[in-house]
Amino acid sequence: MLTSICGINWGDEGKGRMVDLLSREYDVVCRYQGGNNAGHTVINERGKFVLNLLPSGILRENVVNVLGNGMVVDVKHLFEEAGRLREQGISITPENLKISDRAVITMPYHVLMDCLEEERLADKKFGSTRRGIAPVYADKYMKKAFRMGELLNPDLLYKRVKDIVEWKNLTVSGGYDHAPITVDEVIAYIETYGKPFKDYICDVGLYLNEANKAGKKIMFEAQLGALRDIDFGIYPYTSSSSTIAAYAPIGAGVPNLKLDKSIGIMKAYSTCVGEGPFTAEYFGEKAEKLRAAGGEYGAATGRPRRVGPFDVVASRYGIRCQGADEIALTKLDVLSGHEELEICTAYELDGKIIHEFPFTDVLDKCKPVFEKIKGWNCDISKCRKKEDLPAEAIAYIRYLEEACDCKITYVSVGAEREAYVKF
Ligand code: GDP
Ligand code: MG
Repeated sequence: MLTSICGINWGDEGKGRMVDLLSREYDVVCRYQGGNNAGHTVINERGKFVLNLLPSGILRENVVNVLGNGMVVDVKHLFEEAGRLREQGISITPENLKISDRAVITMPYHVLMDCLEEERLADKKFGSTRRGIAPVYADKYMKKAFRMGELLNPDLLYKRVKDIVEWKNLTVSGGYDHAPITVDEVIAYIETYGKPFKDYICDVGLYLNEANKAGKKIMFEAQLGALRDIDFGIYPYTSSSSTIAAYAPIGAGVPNLKLDKSIGIMKAYSTCVGEGPFTAEYFGEKAEKLRAAGGEYGAATGRPRRVGPFDVVASRYGIRCQGADEIALTKLDVLSGHEELEICTAYELDGKIIHEFPFTDVLDKCKPVFEKIKGWNCDISKCRKKEDLPAEAIAYIRYLEEACDCKITYVSVGAEREAYVKF
């Protein structure tokens, strides 16, 4: 049984929170793309955790976690994240964490290049998380990156470091006029932060195939959402990896296996971190109010998230990209306390109404079309059954279900693991 948990929107939909809940029925949780630019906040009976690289299944004692080949791994960050979690009482060993030998290593110079480029762009910046993600994926496709498996063969690895550093300095010092990076600093980084993970590195594809054959249930945890996918998102304001469910088996290490189910995580309203077109965006007081109600500040960066009402056009597109069979709707409690709620139901483009999510350049010209639906005034964060919810909240859920043509099976009403209603 293979299930993917993926984002329908721009990210931060609450994927980590839903993986934490749904993984109770799974044996393995795999991250399959992205790096430590992810920020998944999980609150359960063991505490509050922010996960950047580790799969959210790490918080369950009987779940094995995998970092797949589609990921980029900043080993210093992983070292520190694992340390932080261990301090919070979470055990992390080669038994419950397996790192693909094919996953790519994010080096300090990738982070440096990310920062140098954002600074060069100044007011034209992309809103990068500055975690080196685009530079390291670029190197992967240039075939100049280092992979985790190379840590098992340090002599060969160190020989390559010399060549790569020489090449990298053509841009770092040659192009950006920054002090050159040195072989010694790269080797020191690998020795200090890479080596401690030697025993965690393996052919995770083999492990996952055997687990699957043995009838184990495998979950794939995405980072970011459909609209940040490198191919299908709002390029170039996307991430540098494939955030979509169809990539999960490839990025996890099992291209031979097929997904049984794709569960899309969709937020009851819209948020977006960083630059790029965001048609339904709220500004001013309206935005402040929603941002404060939802606590919309990035887990990875602390940046205030851009906010807006639910966007049917973007979400329907996200559902299509993710091939979502069902939806978990998150953060519905945040919308409590309004007489009326707006929903962006269509876009206006050059005087015409459109319902399909367009190409990025066209998106820039689109204006939101809002409809209003009755809100509810009571606090719903304690609701645990459908019957507990006010009729207006149920009508809101049904409206989204119909507009998006996908059934909603979970509705979360709080950040804690058990704060949800099964539909
Ligand atoms: P992810 O990147 O998709 O895993 O989502 P994030 O963790 O970045 O953002 C979701 C935020 O909303 C986190 O701070 C969660 O603790 C919080 N959250 C998740 N579900 C709910 C919910 O149903 N209600 C409220 N109020 N907060 C939630
Ligand atoms: Mg997040």
